[in-house]
Amino acid sequence: MAPSYDVLIVGAGFGGIHQLYSLLQLGLTVKVVDKAAGLGGTWYWNRYPGAMSDSPSHLYRYSWDQDDLQSYPWSDNYLDAKDVLAYLEHVVDRHGLRKHLQFNTELLSAKRNPEDYTWGVETSQGPFQCHYLITALGLLSEPNWPNIPGRELFRGDLYHTSRWPDKYDFTGKRVAVIGNGATGIQLITRIAPEVGSLLCFQRHPQYSVPARRRTVTQEERDQINNSYDEIWNHVRDSAGGMGVTESKTNTMSVSPAERERVYQAAWDEGGPFRFCLGTFADLYTDEAANHSACEFFRSKIAQIVQDPEKRRKLTPTDFYARRPVCDSGYFEQFNRDNVDIVDILETPIVGFTSDGLKTSDGTVYMLDMIICATGFNAFDGPYKKLNIVGRDGVTLNDHWRDGPSTNMGMAGANFPNLFMINGPQAPLANVPPAIEGQVGFITRAISHAEAHHKDHSVPRKVTIESTKEGEDEWGAFCNLIRDMTLFKTVDSYYFGGNIEGKRRFVYVFLGGLNLFLQKLKECEESGYSSFHPF
Ligand code: NAP
Repeated sequence: MAPSYDVLIVGAGFGGIHQLYSLLQLGLTVKVVDKAAGLGGTWYWNRYPGAMSDSPSHLYRYSWDQDDLQSYPWSDNYLDAKDVLAYLEHVVDRHGLRKHLQFNTELLSAKRNPEDYTWGVETSQGPFQCHYLITALGLLSEPNWPNIPGRELFRGDLYHTSRWPDKYDFTGKRVAVIGNGATGIQLITRIAPEVGSLLCFQRHPQYSVPARRRTVTQEERDQINNSYDEIWNHVRDSAGGMGVTESKTNTMSVSPAERERVYQAAWDEGGPFRFCLGTFADLYTDEAANHSACEFFRSKIAQIVQDPEKRRKLTPTDFYARRPVCDSGYFEQFNRDNVDIVDILETPIVGFTSDGLKTSDGTVYMLDMIICATGFNAFDGPYKKLNIVGRDGVTLNDHWRDGPSTNMGMAGANFPNLFMINGPQAPLANVPPAIEGQVGFITRAISHAEAHHKDHSVPRKVTIESTKEGEDEWGAFCNLIRDMTLFKTVDSYYFGGNIEGKRRFVYVFLGGLNLFLQKLKECEESGYSSFHPF
């Protein structure tokens, strides 16, 4: 017989671990499975050189373990990937969660059984049965490999940043990096001094702010420790959840000199969110405002990059409306003789060769290693290959045929007792507090549902399921907010624009963490009005 649990959680990253901890407090039986060989989710997979979180260190953690917040050591204002992984390992051990985790176990399919109100789940390690199924698959977990013909021809090393090998050596080699998002920028900056030569194949240039990574003094740490309650309240009351004092001033309401001063202060202080949220309130809603920020960025790139041709290629002309990024000397790397840039909008890559990459102008770039920093099939990507069959035989893929609609990124009509953490249309914000909002909601919803099942009859006829109206309303709200912003002007993964042929859709809630948490609260206070009665 399949092992049976009250709740099966799929994914042992930030979301899955917190969800496990919370549901154990309710006295439920819970198992977490993950296809990886260890815990950490994003931080298990993304081990490429230079991988770092760009959220402030003291906010890239759980808020609920007050003692741990006070004592857990961290040295810099940002955390390396390995530090985040070590933190999650520590949390799991500190709270005795390890025995509930099972690795190397990939979710394949799940089917709702109407007779006994359970989910029958198939994994690579056999079946499970559960009353509630919670997927914490990660919003950025399905690698996007570029669709370049002839991959099998290449005789050198070929990597994707999110599937980084244990053993690698690029010392002195001819290396190419395709992609210059948050990942590519970190990777390029880190490896440029070590490789023989580095060719960066760029589709769109980036506006990037210095990260200004530094050691945090004991005095600063004491100050943080003494005001954590206030800090978390501020985080939850902000759009980004990044600890930034978010500006309420409109850009054009101040003089050009004042704009320059404000931008320069953010540039000097460092960090992408200090710049995009802390300078002016309307950077993403007003074209002139956004344009002024772009001008500032372009002037910085012009000051840094010496070679005119490299500078031209590295200078963006579109809106500042991709995921904001930061760097520790990205543009500076292009002043090295061993680093060059290929603009693949001008000369697209036409294929791999046995020795490298060929572009449309006939050039063959001879390479020993090609690294794809090409991001992810985000949000619904990891769900696409699953066969999830809900009520009345409806599959999730069928239900999402016109785009992955959800109720607040967490639930869907026809899928009773199925919750997603950071599913499509979840909020774009600092991930740990955004996850905490969702996990809190899911835990209380399950607790509420369970309270309706006091007689403990078998089968437990308790269900909680989003209404179709709840899902439609959330989709409309996501669209409304998208239409109010300049994000829509750029083809990014927020809208499926990073992948050829992917459906254009609003895959993310752009209204901010504070508004998202308010919506969760309203739903709970209404007695879960956008969910079917239990
Ligand atoms: P990304 O932002 O989607 O960037 C992927 C890059 O690859 C882009 O430059 C993209 O070009 C390019 N690309 C994609 N497909 C391509 C193709 N077929 N041919 C050529 N170029 C292609 O992915 P990412 O850099 O991995 O970052 C994803 C997200 O992960 C970030 O936005 C962030 O949320 C998270 N992340 C965070 C950190 C951090 O510091 N906290 C670090 C890394 C990642 P276009 O711009 O033209 O699409």
